[in-house]
Amino acid sequence: MKYIIIGGVAGGATAAARIRRLDEFAEIILLEKGKYISYANCGLPYYLGGIIEKRNSLFLQTPYTFGKRYRIDVRVEHTAIAIDTGKKTVTVHQTDGNEYIETYDKLLLSPGASPVKPPLEGIDTEGIFTLRDVTDTDNIKNYLDKRNVQNAVVVGGGFIGLEMAENLHHTGIGVSIVEMANQVMAPVDFSIAAYVHQHLIHKGVHLYLEQTVERFEQKRDKINVYLKSGKIISADLIILSIGIRPETSLARSAGLKIGDTGGIWVNDFLETSTKDVYAVGDAIEYSRPQTGKPWLNFLANPANRQGRLAADNIVKGNIEKYEGAIGTAIAKVFDLTVAITGLPAKKLKQLNIPYQSSYTHSDSHAGYYPGSMPMTIKLTFDPANGKIYGAQSVGYDGIDKRIDQIALLIKLGGTVFDLMKVEHCYAPPYSSAKDPVAIAGYVAGNIITERMPVIHWREIQTANPDEVTILDVRTKHETLDGKKIQGSINIPLDELRERLNEIPKNKPVNIYCEAGLRGYLALQILTQHGFVDVKNLSGGYRIYRIATDSMIINN
Ligand code: FAD
Repeated sequence: MKYIIIGGVAGGATAAARIRRLDEFAEIILLEKGKYISYANCGLPYYLGGIIEKRNSLFLQTPYTFGKRYRIDVRVEHTAIAIDTGKKTVTVHQTDGNEYIETYDKLLLSPGASPVKPPLEGIDTEGIFTLRDVTDTDNIKNYLDKRNVQNAVVVGGGFIGLEMAENLHHTGIGVSIVEMANQVMAPVDFSIAAYVHQHLIHKGVHLYLEQTVERFEQKRDKINVYLKSGKIISADLIILSIGIRPETSLARSAGLKIGDTGGIWVNDFLETSTKDVYAVGDAIEYSRPQTGKPWLNFLANPANRQGRLAADNIVKGNIEKYEGAIGTAIAKVFDLTVAITGLPAKKLKQLNIPYQSSYTHSDSHAGYYPGSMPMTIKLTFDPANGKIYGAQSVGYDGIDKRIDQIALLIKLGGTVFDLMKVEHCYAPPYSSAKDPVAIAGYVAGNIITERMPVIHWREIQTANPDEVTILDVRTKHETLDGKKIQGSINIPLDELRERLNEIPKNKPVNIYCEAGLRGYLALQILTQHGFVDVKNLSGGYRIYRIATDSMIINN
């Protein structure tokens, strides 16, 4: 059997190695248009920031070592330029200009994605880069080494843009981020991104939200970035990080079906519309398990999983269906970690799926043990049965393990009640006897069972104090800075039972405290004293303040 694999990094290299493990006698050819295979593209920003010191550390395998270990015919600087699915051939172009035709029995495409480069005036000015592969990285590194780069503009506040912002900042460069949307990190909800906004500003990054780049212009030794608002930012280096598109040119010209979202269409076995041709990784679209709608998911874990699974199906004949990826991602932004799994509220809203959400704040581990840090978890779930739709978390420590646990539960169809059952390992340096995941489950459970009706930060913002009593149960000390929700009255929780007569009984009551717990206790007191229509602000004043502060950046 003769297999050809196009693309030698995440999906392609994984599939090649798996095919060899399954079939010792197969002929396997790995075509890669670049000079390198199986390298750590996720590590590229950290190499540019000097955190990964040695360029060599980026290379997990060389074409020689990989080829030798797996007896694979690795051909770097060989670009597949055409596929004839009828004749089962691939036309290959070499960098020295040679072209040749190779036959296959089965073919796998893992060509990845390419960065979006809009046709803006001045886009080809020297000093404007995208970051996708080792060549891009080398170009940026050479530029940084040769030029006295003092200021950089990162256009686009996605995961890679933010990683680049942090890494450039780490080398002492002043960084501005220009983002067209009203938030960075598009997959997470605004309230979670708001933490990132504040953190970036705190670190001295200039953040321009809801600002669009109109054009670039070389001005002596600087590049001017002209924004539609009229603002001009002058910089020495520009990183364009405004998105990527699935690399489908080869698939299109071969007549393979392209899906609705622009990725290569594959069936459940990762086989394309043409028999014996499979595709994986950033280039494909597949059905998003929670919505049934096609989607593109540019992440390394799915690419690797798909590479292995496609290899099994290629060698053994479509034996296993791909379960799909729900979208589990994480990013380090300076000291902060932000992670998401599943569907955020904004996506559920867009899809018209009824949902409820909850915010909880916990300590990353026992508060009495040194080094404990605050973390916030936002859950989205089905209000009818508690099925978890998604989770987002932001904080400084332990974010990854919480999101990973919830991701697994979502994949298994779990509910918020299952979060309470998660049995976690505990000692003070690692967690609390009640882990943040369990607390998120308890709170969401209280919402569903109506033990704690909630109001959210956007709703309480528009609550009219003439019609609703907005009750602040924080201590006097906590209110000394004068910051509060407009129109609220302050009765600290510990004085509430004695001062119930100050709260009108003929109006709904919206309660808030700093994080949500005291608001819940106050809600129990009020409802058991005959107040009706009492709600607690989910996530408390902490979420309200950070989200509303973020709404006025650049205004
Ligand atoms: P790639 O790994 O991109 O490999 C595609 C390869 O195909 C390329 O080497 C390309 O040269 C080759 N190719 C394309 N066309 C041809 C052709 N016609 N002939 C021959 N070869 C061809 N994901 C995460 O989950 N976490 C992260 O932290 C993360 N960080 C990232 C940071 C950066 C800077 C980048 C660029 C990506 C990051 N990703 C991250 C995304 C992750 O790297 C990708 O999702 C993953 O590599 C996709 O695997 P793939 O095999 O589809 O494509």
